[in-house]
Amino acid sequence: MPVTKEEILAKIVEQKVQFINLQFTDIVGIIKNVTIPVSQIHEALDHGVWFDGSSIEGFARIAESDMYLVPDLNTYAVIPWESTGDYITARFICDVYTPDDQPFAGDPRHVLKRTLAQAAELGFIYNTGPELEFFLFKPGPNGELIPLPHDAAGYFDVSTDYATHIRRQMVASLQTFGIKVEASHHEVAIGQHEIDFEYGDALTTADHTVTFRTVLKAIAQLNGLHATFMPKPIAGINGSGMHVHQSLSSIVTGRNEFHDHETNNLSLLAQHFTAGLLDHALGMTAVLAPLVNSYKRLVPGYEAPIYVSWGRTNRSALVRIPRISAGRSNQATRIELRCPDPSANPYLAFSVMLAAGLDGIKRKLMPPPSAEEDLYHVDPIARGLKTLPVSLGEALEELKRDSVIQEALGEHIYERYIEAKTQEWDAYRRHVSQWELDRYLPIY
Ligand code: ADP
Ligand code: MG
Ligand code: MG
Ligand code: MG
Ligand code: MG
Repeated sequence: MPVTKEEILAKIVEQKVQFINLQFTDIVGIIKNVTIPVSQIHEALDHGVWFDGSSIEGFARIAESDMYLVPDLNTYAVIPWESTGDYITARFICDVYTPDDQPFAGDPRHVLKRTLAQAAELGFIYNTGPELEFFLFKPGPNGELIPLPHDAAGYFDVSTDYATHIRRQMVASLQTFGIKVEASHHEVAIGQHEIDFEYGDALTTADHTVTFRTVLKAIAQLNGLHATFMPKPIAGINGSGMHVHQSLSSIVTGRNEFHDHETNNLSLLAQHFTAGLLDHALGMTAVLAPLVNSYKRLVPGYEAPIYVSWGRTNRSALVRIPRISAGRSNQATRIELRCPDPSANPYLAFSVMLAAGLDGIKRKLMPPPSAEEDLYHVDPIARGLKTLPVSLGEALEELKRDSVIQEALGEHIYERYIEAKTQEWDAYRRHVSQWELDRYLPIY
């Protein structure tokens, strides 16, 4: 239910809030923040709050430095760790506007809203359920980071260890931001965890994703730990993914349009959508797996996809269609994309995924036969499988070839994204690593 200005103002008084953080994200999905004293709240809610966009990296050219922030009332929440002692602080997630009252083209939240509007024109709400994996590290005696816990707790292990205790604090804090947690568990790798929250419309879950990363980092820090969403912090064990479960529901009836009630299976619409995701998989990888390090996760053997494929049971496939057990709600019919990782900007990620799916619907694309075998041991050429980009450099070249994905980012963000990520890739290419020295210096 959308909340009113009066309800928010009453809450602010009741909760004795003294400061308000106005949040938005930059192109790479990092939260930026302007803090105002509560005395400014009427002004902020009526007219927005000015800020200098040129001070935000990648956000604006100097010439368009004046921007203003318009709080989204639905995102109001008290920040627990900034509300100890005397100063209670709340936050809003904001939309960014230009001085002539237009949504700012460089605001990732606006970019997602624009693609969501295209789905709405066809009568659909786009739902996403992202699963964020992360590692907990603790600082060692020499400042190095050691994975927590030290015991060999594996996937779903019932451990009474310290990490379980921290995860409970994280779950409690997430709930105060209105994020409904469905499950939390230890992951496959040592020190790796997952907390799943309830799916919803993609704007809400993108907001939840940026909040989620902030909450987990804050709670870890309060406990003297470091939570990281870096995709592959440790070589040789599983990296952290952000699988995204997706469906389209009807704006009018709320019905899950990915479910075919006659066949009790995936609808034709869902098959077109899947085919669209596969068709644009290469072009959108630079957005979904945005770091140099992301490509060290997308390698054989660690439950991450490497080929453009789909399957029902197969965890090496790019798109997995979870089997819905009989008796479970039709609302659970969905498709899961497994290449994104939790370093992605969720607004841009959901925008390009939706654009890819809608393109599949428009062109009535059909997915190829499913791949149910373990793809880590097949010959991709004999099997006719396309390979995902193996590096950020390759992914950027694919993005430059995909006009549907470019449009889903918008010209403004597309250009700056390519520029920023090309710099990142070049810096990495020029670096001579310890691996190279260890391997080559003694021999050549
Ligand atoms: P996995 O089996 O891949 O580990 P999880 O059970 O951890 O998946 O997470 C499933 C996610 O899918 C949850 O976030 C859940 O809310 C979400 N989900 C369930 N139904 C839908 C749907 N119709 N559309 C989108 N997401 C959904
Ligand atoms: Mg999961
Ligand atoms: Mg599960
Ligand atoms: Mg997982
Ligand atoms: Mg999953």
